[in-house]
Formats: sequence, structure tokens, C-alpha cells
Amino acid sequence: MLEVHDLLVDYNGIVAVDHLSLQAKAGEVTTLIGANGAGKTTLLKAISGLLQPAAGEILFDGKPLTGCRPEDIVRRGVTQIPEGRGLFPYLSVYDNLMTGAHLRRDRAAIQRDLEKVFAYFPVLKQQSGKLAKDFSGGEQQMIAIGRGIMANPRFFLFDEPSIGLAPLIVRSVLDTIKAIAEEEGVGVLLVEQNANMALKIAREAYVLELGKVVLSGPAEELSADAGVRKAYLGM
Ligand code: ATP
Repeated sequence: MLEVHDLLVDYNGIVAVDHLSLQAKAGEVTTLIGANGAGKTTLLKAISGLLQPAAGEILFDGKPLTGCRPEDIVRRGVTQIPEGRGLFPYLSVYDNLMTGAHLRRDRAAIQRDLEKVFAYFPVLKQQSGKLAKDFSGGEQQMIAIGRGIMANPRFFLFDEPSIGLAPLIVRSVLDTIKAIAEEEGVGVLLVEQNANMALKIAREAYVLELGKVVLSGPAEELSADAGVRKAYLGM
């Protein structure tokens, strides 16, 4: 579904993503783990068209995304849930969710997707008129995911959805991300510093160091790898 080939992204000559290749399939979570500064956010920005790579190629369903404008990439079905969630704090839950659908005209389908969001996150239905700023961190993350669903994507890019959340909430948010991938048949690329949790919900995983993939394979195998356990899982 999503393929990244030999991607090079730099900031004025300083390489942040260094000849990176990866693949992510529909209906499952692929995770990219790595320490601060490994290049995870830079990769996501390149996929969503916010940064232009210096070399390499990004394909979605076999067609290039590289060189497309960010809004065209969203129209193609690739939606990013940004780090920090980027909600409108003084808009209601409902209005925040609807901003996700602003490129769509199919009202019946929009209504169906809204019901889908409320089914995944019932707390949002009960309080859909409340301002986003008045929700907890975990609930704000739910609104951000819900807004992503409202764009009716085929592929989600998640940037550190666990950041700032209590461990119990992290588990619940990540479990929901896995359920969305499996039930909706969408692809998910999950960038996480919380390697422990990310490896639990992912099928495939990539370990990134200084912009390069240093290890990849089934998440289950990586969780059992002694080097990964020591460096990333604190075991
Ligand atoms: P974090 O988890 O801290 O967000 P990351 O793995 O997402 O880390 P990036 O933010 O992609 O890493 O950063 C990769 C490298 O690029 C780092 O060395 C960082 O300092 C550098 N970098 C990131 N943004 C810029 C920028 N706007 N200008 C210059 N260098 C940058």
C-alpha cells in the first residue's frame, strides 16, 4: 500500500532521513520506533508532502506521492494525525470532528463516518457540544483520531499518539488504533517513542537510528530481540 524507497530528506544539507526504505500494508499497524531525533517526524512530513525529499520515492498504491501537494495527498487518502494533536481548543468536539471532513461533499457518508467515530469513542458523542480544551489529554487524542476518521482516509500516519498520556490511556488509545486498522481495512504507520506499546499492537516494525533503518521485521520478533529489548524496551 505505502512504499518508501531510498528516501533522503535533509535540512539545508543536514541529513535527517538517510536512504530509508519501508513498506506498510492495509489492515494492519506498521510501527517505526527510534529515539529523539532519529528522523521519525521528518519521515512523516515527507510522506504527507510537508517536506520535499532530496532523493528517493514514496508510492501509495503504486503511484508516486512524491512531489504532490499536501492537500492532494489528503485527497488520495493519506491523513496525518499530528503530534500535539493540533485541535481547535475553542471549538466543540463536533466542530473539530467536522474540520476533518472539509474536503468532502458526500453528506450521507460524512454522517455515517460521524456515527463510526462515536461508536469507537462513545464519550465524544455524549459530550459533542463541549469545547475541545475542556477534555483530558486522552480524550483530546480521541478527538484527533476521530477527526482523522472524518477525512475517510485509506491510510493513517500517527505521530506519537501516546505522548503525555498516562500508561493505561496509552494502551486504550493504541488498542483503538489497531482496531481501526483491522476493522476498517486501513493502513497505519505509527511513529512512537513508546516502543513497548507500539510493538504490542504492530504487525511489522522498523527501528530507526540517525535517519537509517537499522533493524526491521515482524513486531513480535523485534520484541524478542536482545538488542531491541536493551536499547528500546528498557529490559
Ligand atoms: P522526536 O521524537 O524528538 O520528534 P524524531 O525522530 O521525530 O524525533 P526529527 O524531528 O525528524 O526526529 O529530527 C531528525 C533530525 O533532523 C534531528 O537531528 C533534528 O535536529 C533535525 N531537524 C528536525 N527538524 C529540523 C528543522 N526544521 N531544521 C533543522 N533540523 C531539523
